[in-house]
Amino acid sequence: MTARQAAATPRQGPASDRSSATPGAASASVMTVLGPVSAADLGIVLPHEHLLCRVYRPADQGADERFHERVTLGNLGWVRQHWASNADNLRLTSERLAIQELQRFKDAGGGTLVDLTQDGIGRSPAALARISRATGVHIVMGCGAYVAPTNPAWIATATTGAIADRLVAEANGGVGPARIRPGIIGEIGCSWPLEAVEGRVLVAAALAQARTGLAISVHPGRHRAAPPQIVERLAAAGADLSRVVIGHLDRTVQDLAGLVEIARSGPYVELDLFGLETSYYPWPGVAEGLSDARRLILVRGLIEAGLGDRILLSHDICTKHRLARYGGHGYDHLVSNVLPWMRDRGFDEAEIDLLFRTNPATMLGSHGRLRT
Ligand SMILES: [Zn+2]
Repeated sequence: MTARQAAATPRQGPASDRSSATPGAASASVMTVLGPVSAADLGIVLPHEHLLCRVYRPADQGADERFHERVTLGNLGWVRQHWASNADNLRLTSERLAIQELQRFKDAGGGTLVDLTQDGIGRSPAALARISRATGVHIVMGCGAYVAPTNPAWIATATTGAIADRLVAEANGGVGPARIRPGIIGEIGCSWPLEAVEGRVLVAAALAQARTGLAISVHPGRHRAAPPQIVERLAAAGADLSRVVIGHLDRTVQDLAGLVEIARSGPYVELDLFGLETSYYPWPGVAEGLSDARRLILVRGLIEAGLGDRILLSHDICTKHRLARYGGHGYDHLVSNVLPWMRDRGFDEAEIDLLFRTNPATMLGSHGRLRT
């Protein structure tokens, strides 16, 4: 065991014994790109990431001449401050690089990565299976639809029933010639204000959840009124809110009271931009960038409010500048850097176990509604 693996291994003691005995997670199974895995065997999980993807960028496309430059050491300082304004930065297309980067997470003690890339932004089922085989990291693939402008043409005119049927068909029969099966519905893309088609996809996700037992992960619009609207829509459509994830809350609802309100309404609250620390957020007027230290204060506040079992943590890596190869923090940041900081800040082993293992395993674990 390396020092980094040792850092990621829970210390023994009554506290971690208690949390690892969480009912439900152990008996459930999770569909990965290489087949079903017991939820108890996922290890440390990153619940919201992208290994290969092409980010959709609606604003200021090409406004700066550096939009068209390759990311190099010469412009990396600028790219870090304007990460959504450089085309090359918004493309993760090298399978070889993805393997090298994911290997860092494995070497640090990581177990499972959830890739929420959708058709329209570069979902690559067969490549995910190869990356999983090469690294030994369990990979859970998503299904559904991202924000409206990225949607494949058929979704624009499809009924909620037809969209739900497609999700169920993927969940049961897989995607492509290798029939690789998704293990989660998401990330479902929502804009602010919500587009009509995005509302239909949300309803379809709820219908598909009822038929498959899969969890739902949502990318909310960039407005603090977006998460409650999404929760309401999903609840009205019959979703099991206890297995719904509202992502990107560290750019959407940046105060503890707001996060507590969302968590109390049922879903997981996901702080999934760990490692992204520039003060300037590229969508002006929406949010300021949080530091990881500030994120941990919010996590502590949620735990103190009795909502520890509703928290998920991830990086949502989808740009080159966050990869280790490009001077970024890498997929191992939460395990290698944040986890030791958490111990320094007084998070105990039961809390760390809950946040990194039990919560994502419980979120992902389905109980027998999937065909195996
Ligand atoms: Zn994402």
